[in-house]
Amino acid sequence: MKETQARQDTGRGLSQDVPRPLRSEGHGRAPRDGDRRIGRRALLIGGAVAAVATGVLARDELARLWWRVPGVAKPRKEGEIDYAGALWVAASSANWRMADRPDDYGVDRVIIHVTQGGYASAVKVFQDPAHGAAAHYIVRKDGRVTQMIRELDVAFHAGNREFNERSVGIEHEGFVEKPEDFTDAMYAASARLTARICARYGIPVDREHIIGHVEVPGTDHTDPGEGWDWKKYLRLVEEASTTTT
Ligand SMILES: [Zn+2]
Repeated sequence: MKETQARQDTGRGLSQDVPRPLRSEGHGRAPRDGDRRIGRRALLIGGAVAAVATGVLARDELARLWWRVPGVAKPRKEGEIDYAGALWVAASSANWRMADRPDDYGVDRVIIHVTQGGYASAVKVFQDPAHGAAAHYIVRKDGRVTQMIRELDVAFHAGNREFNERSVGIEHEGFVEKPEDFTDAMYAASARLTARICARYGIPVDREHIIGHVEVPGTDHTDPGEGWDWKKYLRLVEEASTTTT
């Protein structure tokens, strides 16, 4: 039991930063003839229209069905996200457990983490089935948000089964000992994300419900650390919560 739980969060293993892998830019060769060019262009336009239509359908479907049908497994599609604008990068399925939240488990906590490393290394370990831990989201220094596990599902991030089941976990790129890693862009982006999560599940915006990993019962983790500015963060979450956009 204890071993299983320990395996559910080894966030400390995120220690080594690694160079970000070069992204494949997909340089296409120029088509050799006019017909090919037209065909390719038509294909691209058709694809874009299809992508937009799928996006609209998915959003509509999410709004209607996502968590409102009790006892029915929600439809899920590869790449579907819970937070508009997030980048989807799937975590290894070994690092989370399929669930049907908030119908099977109520969600009443947001748990704040710090990765103890860079963004790329956090993504890498969350994709590693041997890691045994991952959070729903990672917020980068530049404010970009990546989602790696659906909020429907239980992510292994808190090192405490009950708290995993009741929470959404947000990782922040950087080190506990280096609060300068926590940029204004990061605080602002994370606060908007937390505000949306709180709004969706009716979670009160306060320090009882928005907590650090360090505050999870039984944890030996210290993140987000003394350098995390809770006062500023809560103020930003409150501001984002009252913004009507
Ligand atoms: Zn943590």
